[in-house]
Amino acid sequence: MAAKLGRKAIVAGAGMGGLAAAAALARRFETVLVLDRDTLPDEAALRTGAGQGAHTHQLLKAGELSLEKLLPGITQQFVVAGARQMLVGRDVKVFDFGGWMDECDAGFTVTSLSRPAYEAVLRRRVVTLPGVSIQHETIVKRFIVEGGTCKGVELEDGTRISADFCIDATGVTGPLMAQLAEDGHAVFETENVKINVAYASAKFRQKPEHRGEAIGFFFLPGPPGKQFGFMLPIEDDQWIVSVGARGGDSPPKTIDELREYAKAFDAKVYDRISEAEATSQIRMFRKPMATRRKAWEAAKWPQGLIPIGDAMSSVNPTYGQGMTVAACEAEALAEILDKRATGGGGLDGLGAEYLPVAAEIAGRAWSLSVNSDYVYPETEGERPANFLMNRAMAQTLRKLAVEELDFRVFRYRLVHMVDSANALRDGPLAVRFFTALQGSIPA
Ligand SMILES: Cc1cc2nc3c(=O)[nH]c(=O)nc-3n(C[C@H](O)[C@H](O)[C@H](O)COP(=O)(O)OP(=O)(O)OC[C@H]3O[C@@H](n4cnc5c(N)ncnc54)[C@H](O)[C@@H]3O)c2cc1C
Repeated sequence: MAAKLGRKAIVAGAGMGGLAAAAALARRFETVLVLDRDTLPDEAALRTGAGQGAHTHQLLKAGELSLEKLLPGITQQFVVAGARQMLVGRDVKVFDFGGWMDECDAGFTVTSLSRPAYEAVLRRRVVTLPGVSIQHETIVKRFIVEGGTCKGVELEDGTRISADFCIDATGVTGPLMAQLAEDGHAVFETENVKINVAYASAKFRQKPEHRGEAIGFFFLPGPPGKQFGFMLPIEDDQWIVSVGARGGDSPPKTIDELREYAKAFDAKVYDRISEAEATSQIRMFRKPMATRRKAWEAAKWPQGLIPIGDAMSSVNPTYGQGMTVAACEAEALAEILDKRATGGGGLDGLGAEYLPVAAEIAGRAWSLSVNSDYVYPETEGERPANFLMNRAMAQTLRKLAVEELDFRVFRYRLVHMVDSANALRDGPLAVRFFTALQGSIPA
């Protein structure tokens, strides 16, 4: 039996982050209690607390790998639930910043399911872990902090539940970090970037001639284009299509308008959804800001409590990073817990060890997405001092990716968070990259 570090852990929030966190905690605590305010369905269904679930959700490769480490065999469970596996570079067609990427074999596949289906598979698996239980329709009001240490949670109805360790996985709209600050238990900065992104999405039955197809389309045309769109194959022979815009523009409001909107991106997308049966209503989502709550450099933060996923950092969803950041953070947490359980050391200072690692993971997603967001004039706010250099680097990498296969593969690995930008600086592509960059460095 795996060595335990504590008796009870509590996770507030049973979204992708909370479930991945529960998997990380399960081996090292006798019991793990996951609490969510929503009614959690048995099957893959939309729910109020995760309204974003109506929109395309790509699980990046790094997220898949992290979930697989936490829950071996989970990728196969996604496939059994109807996920399509797509070879990145070939099956996932990408149009970004001015043109289509030529096809290539990036060397890895991704799965494609709806967000409610990913969550349902994960939820069903996580409750089978020894000691883990999920309690729904339970609103967490605040973390109980005494003498600088989190001792558990207080529920909306006043019930108090003690725990040796707590995790905030209540997402970007979750109230707990703000409550922690209001109660005087934490002092941290919050950074917002006004991205003003709006989505409209619907699902369609694949027409007989396209049934079973496992291809996806991503359109992020770059400025001055403010519109974007994604189409992915999901469970039950369906497509999920999301289209949207930046800068306050309104996305389509009806299924027919959505079809027309998609037509502007590519005839192949339109062919697949024109006259296809819509299997859902059209749904909207507005995301005004990318937000990060800088717990990792907090002037005051309690022991025994950490945030995971969107509760700490939530970026523009068009880059598809949120679930992956949460999964990678959970994997990092599991590694820290394992090291402490096998090498001695209890829970003391766990937050201080986890937060910089989580900040690095979330920071990679933040800089990839926010640097791209700042290229659009619609993104409000002062550009950071290194913006022009970052832009030159991104443009150089894209140009090289169009021209050379190894840069294209590297760019896919970067976007899927399998490699970090450091791999470009220190790896075998460095000399060619920096030579090409020299010609485009801003004065
Ligand atoms: C339109 C859109 C498209 C997206 N596309 C992608 C994509 O392609 N790929 C990707 O990886 N990510 C995508 N994302 C981001 C992704 O949805 C999030 O990053 C991810 O869901 C974060 O998971 P989480 O568990 O941290 O938070 P959430 O999924 O938001 O879960 C938080 C949970 O906490 C619960 N909760 C909240 N408050 C309380 C409380 N007080 N007490 C108890 N429970 C509470 C909620 O009910 C919810 O279940 C997209 C987001 C949007 C908006």
